[in-house]
Amino acid sequence: MREKLMRFMQGRYGVDELSRFLSMSSIVLIVLELITRQFIFGVLFWAVFIYIYFRMFSRNYGKRQQENQKFLTARYKLKTKWYNFKRDMIQRKDYHIYKCPQCSQKIRIPRGKGKIAIRCPKCYTEFIKKS
Ligand SMILES: [Zn+2]
Repeated sequence: MREKLMRFMQGRYGVDELSRFLSMSSIVLIVLELITRQFIFGVLFWAVFIYIYFRMFSRNYGKRQQENQKFLTARYKLKTKWYNFKRDMIQRKDYHIYKCPQCSQKIRIPRGKGKIAIRCPKCYTEFIKKS
């Protein structure tokens, strides 16, 4: 039985990061379906479920790897955005974050200094803002 399964899986793509993420998503979907009793979550669950198995048994390595790579890139970008957002939120207490009107460079100004002239460190444009 085990040998049969191994022979069946030979040359097939198997599991990667994207399928792990999809598995987690399908669990979330089925839980949502159970809680809300909304038909749509059940449909989405089956769509994701079938897609997971389609990818796992696929013999098209290149295409599946491409999908996984796209997923990893998107996840990395999202994580970076989230970290930057969190960092900005923490700094918001003590700093104002302004954008240079010329080059859009982000500039961090300590709060509570009244009206001050700010010089952009990148393009040296000066502008006046309340700190
Ligand atoms: Zn600038």
